[in-house]
Amino acid sequence: MAESRESIKRRHRIYKERYPERVKESNRKYREAHPVERKERRPDAERFLSKVDKGESCWTWKGWIDGWGYGKFRYRGRMMFAHRFSYMTYREPVPDGLCVLHRCDNPACVNPAHLFLGTQGDNAKDKMAKNRHTFGEKSKRSKLTLDQVMEIRRSTGNQRLLAEKYGIRQTTVSEIRNGRSWSRAIALATGGTP
Ligand SMILES: [Zn+2]
Repeated sequence: MAESRESIKRRHRIYKERYPERVKESNRKYREAHPVERKERRPDAERFLSKVDKGESCWTWKGWIDGWGYGKFRYRGRMMFAHRFSYMTYREPVPDGLCVLHRCDNPACVNPAHLFLGTQGDNAKDKMAKNRHTFGEKSKRSKLTLDQVMEIRRSTGNQRLLAEKYGIRQTTVSEIRNGRSWSRAIALATGGTP
């Protein structure tokens, strides 16, 4: 019968107690033979700057850019907006619930001097005003305004009646309600990212 795991463990423990030097020596040899590639952890700010192309005016993010054109930066194990990191590092901490917005209308810019704090609402208005987004209200197929979408989103009434009211299909009402449609616009208007 094969030796049980418990038995093996016990045997190893006894060996280690009896011959600690031998165990140390064999561990050392093993580490020598199998070097582990250890990456030096650079300070966050330094790592951040290595991904920045400082131009005359805007600082262009050379790292990962999301589908909206915003730079993303890994910070403490999570992805965050690069411009947000820039603001909190070079200007001041960003209070919870506030957004970091661009004066320069360049989402990939991380120049702290081009950034300012705003509410989620400012953020959504800003984006709508700048006409940068082609979803929802601005898209060709759209028949709804953002206000109407929000109304449908909050509504609990009959789907068919709502569809008639806005001249849209019933499935559109259902998609808005369960977040499969207009989700980006809704997220922006209600304070989701970015
Ligand atoms: Zn800029």
